[in-house]
Amino acid sequence: MDSDFDLIVVGGGSGGLAGAFRAAALGAKVALLEPADLGGTCVNAGCVPKKAMWLAAETARRLRMAGSLGFAEQDCHLDWPEFVAHRQRYIQNIHASYRRRLDAAGIATLPVRGQLLDANTVQCDNGVQLRAERILLATGGHATRPGIPGAGLGDTSDGFFEWTAAPGTVAIVGGGYIAVELAGVLQALGSQVEMFVRGERMLASFDAELVDQLVEDYRQAGVHMHFGTETAAVEREGDGLVLVDGEGGRHGPFEKVLFATGRSPNSSGLGLDIAGVALDEKGHVVIDDGQATSVPGIFAVGDLCTDMPLTPVAIAAARRLMDRLYGGVDRRLDREAIPTVLFSHPPIGKVGLDETAARELHGDDVHVLRTGFRPMLHALADSPQRSLFKLVCVGDAKRIVGIHLMGEAADEILQGFAVAMRMGATLDDLRDTVAIHPTSAEEVVLMR
Ligand SMILES: Cc1cc2nc3c(=O)[nH]c(=O)nc-3n(C[C@H](O)[C@H](O)[C@H](O)COP(=O)(O)OP(=O)(O)OC[C@H]3O[C@@H](n4cnc5c(N)ncnc54)[C@H](O)[C@@H]3O)c2cc1C
Repeated sequence: MDSDFDLIVVGGGSGGLAGAFRAAALGAKVALLEPADLGGTCVNAGCVPKKAMWLAAETARRLRMAGSLGFAEQDCHLDWPEFVAHRQRYIQNIHASYRRRLDAAGIATLPVRGQLLDANTVQCDNGVQLRAERILLATGGHATRPGIPGAGLGDTSDGFFEWTAAPGTVAIVGGGYIAVELAGVLQALGSQVEMFVRGERMLASFDAELVDQLVEDYRQAGVHMHFGTETAAVEREGDGLVLVDGEGGRHGPFEKVLFATGRSPNSSGLGLDIAGVALDEKGHVVIDDGQATSVPGIFAVGDLCTDMPLTPVAIAAARRLMDRLYGGVDRRLDREAIPTVLFSHPPIGKVGLDETAARELHGDDVHVLRTGFRPMLHALADSPQRSLFKLVCVGDAKRIVGIHLMGEAADEILQGFAVAMRMGATLDDLRDTVAIHPTSAEEVVLMR
């Protein structure tokens, strides 16, 4: 085939960059199309700035706690623009590092939007047409607002990252991980936060017992939670915004309304219909277990497709795909036990099955162990925050099939235990491991 490249990657976010780097390292001639900042959602409007804000919020919480430990009273007010300057400098360093690595790898990087013309041709929005033997689609997703009157008066997570001060009052609409994370950040940084959740529960994919405790923690911290509340409209009232619920109840006024009501794949305007790439009913590109779309030679990774919308998932899928296409190794993403963390206050980490899912699969063969305790710092400061850790095991051997940690440092503790679980660890393996004392992590190996 007469082509310019072995591989064209459309989208320079988590998945696209990982795929481009791995393919080039394996000898492929690669072009990468990215019209915006390198790094995509994760680096520019997702994981990285979110974690930075979470760290600021944790620092504020520590400063507040320090007063109870004998330190002089601290000023917990954050100079938000100064912190944003630190955050953005960190992000700019990531951009510069990607740029250097792309140049060093010999990847042709074009600041353009791409659209498929057929299975081997991409039309760039600067008029250039590129041809390649294979195409990787990695265009990610975008935040959506509900189709209600006044939705445009509120912000999404993209707008949140442009704020320059904590709003005095804020309504957060949604009960998923982004809603919960941003609620925790804003409350810790001084906002009066109200959350509006449509269902009776939030965080449906997390262990219900841990979520119940988190809700209690948020309430104690001062977040006002409304469950079973459908948001029907947002109206301007004087300087503020009023949220109208499905029963005509009015809430507010709030300085800001933040919608964290979902994300949709960036699949329109990509020429998928022209090339014949199949989509699901929500517009995600349908892939098989090896990232192949319905069109031979066209592959997809990340939030654009039906995989879990997480950065490490997009990266792992892209690397494995390139190892197969250009490295001759048959590797595929194992979607069984993907660890993930909710950056709430305190954080929740989970991997594998929760208690309910395990019982559906294994019935009475399921054994659940749990431990609740007060982490040392919180005990010293007489703070009410507690940790709750759960292990879900199956069979006589008590093989670990789920680990659910809520509490101080859960975000850092989980990764190593996820490796153990993947390797088939049993409860005895954990118990045979000597504890590291005094830590929160030791509670995982000491569970009875
Ligand atoms: C607020 C928030 C917090 C998050 N926190 C976490 C977290 O803590 N941990 C975690 O693992 N995940 C987190 N995520 C999810 C994570 O950001 C995504 O799963 C990840 O970025 C997906 O990578 P991707 O490569 O599929 O897409 P993206 O990273 O979104 O990259 C897609 C790129 O494609 C480009 N593009 C779009 N259309 C075209 C086109 N036609 N031509 C060329 N380029 C195009 C876009 O400009 C973009 O740069 C968070 C997301 C949000 C919104």
